Amino acid sequence: MQTKQRIDEIESALKSEGDQYLDFLANKEKIERILELQEKKDVLILGHNYMIPLVYQLSGQQYRGDSLGLSREAAKAKNQIILFNGVVFMAETAKILNPEKKVLISDLEAGCSLADPFRAKDVLEYKARFPRIPVVTYINSYADVKAETDYCCTSANALKVVEHAAKEFGVDRVIFLPDSFMGKNIEDEFNLEGKKIDVIYPGKYDKNFGRCEVHEKFTLEMIIDIRKQFNMPKNATSTAVLAHWECRSEVLREADFYGSTTGMGRYLKAHPELKKAYLATECEMAANLASEFPNIEFVRACSIFCQHMRKITLDKILHGLENEVYEVFVEESIRRKALVSIERMLALK
Ligand code: SF4
Repeated sequence: MQTKQRIDEIESALKSEGDQYLDFLANKEKIERILELQEKKDVLILGHNYMIPLVYQLSGQQYRGDSLGLSREAAKAKNQIILFNGVVFMAETAKILNPEKKVLISDLEAGCSLADPFRAKDVLEYKARFPRIPVVTYINSYADVKAETDYCCTSANALKVVEHAAKEFGVDRVIFLPDSFMGKNIEDEFNLEGKKIDVIYPGKYDKNFGRCEVHEKFTLEMIIDIRKQFNMPKNATSTAVLAHWECRSEVLREADFYGSTTGMGRYLKAHPELKKAYLATECEMAANLASEFPNIEFVRACSIFCQHMRKITLDKILHGLENEVYEVFVEESIRRKALVSIERMLALK
């Protein structure tokens, strides 16, 4: 698609978004330059839902989303260069799926509080402690962890993958790493559905703990307060509180809907009667969805941002593309092993 057409698309998406539009006007030349380079160098730009709006808009509609959707797009990529606007574990996943391509991220220090502390040795310890139990690892992990894992999963398919792993191994226990809140939420969900699967997550039988530093900030008190302040009672038809799987279980119980970021978008689409929504997830998500759902007022009483995602800026993207630097590499023997766990996930429809 021509640069001019993309610029027009971005402009019309942000036109009614006040500050975002002013930001667009102030950075228009930079955005044009990035899109020209994208065209000239045949770059696929993937953008996670938590990117700041101007970075998010650099990716066409089909190439924005959550880790699962972006992994699928990365797997289909025909372009010689993939630029991943997200954090390093996501760019690594794209590299695992596309070893012959150049995968760039504009800041190699863009980490994640879930991925950073858990490495391959931790997986091996769980395996030694719970032999013959399948290991499902959340996509928020590095390649060495995925290499020691039976299945990879994302928040969009975790329930399905955990259930499938237990069935394939013929057991009723699954090791789920590294998110403690999500592990508990998965187990709660199985209990609600009457399924008996013991989910072994960090903190359940040990003193480990894995958490997203963004989602752990959302508390039950906060959600109750939002409901009162913005007149959003539970189960109302015109308002909804949506929470991400990585939040605490009591936050999920209080929400009208919980799921992945893509699940949240689908929920909003499926409920055209909604007038107001609050999203208990990284605050850029509401800013990014606002242009897609102009009829919904998104409660922006939110200042919870991911410091890692915020490392990805237009300036760094431009520098990275101009010079083709900040390339992501994965050691081949690790890549091949990690690929198995990702492909098993992608094979599940
Ligand atoms: S939002 Fe949480 S899980 Fe996502 S990259 Fe940031 S710290 Fe990691």
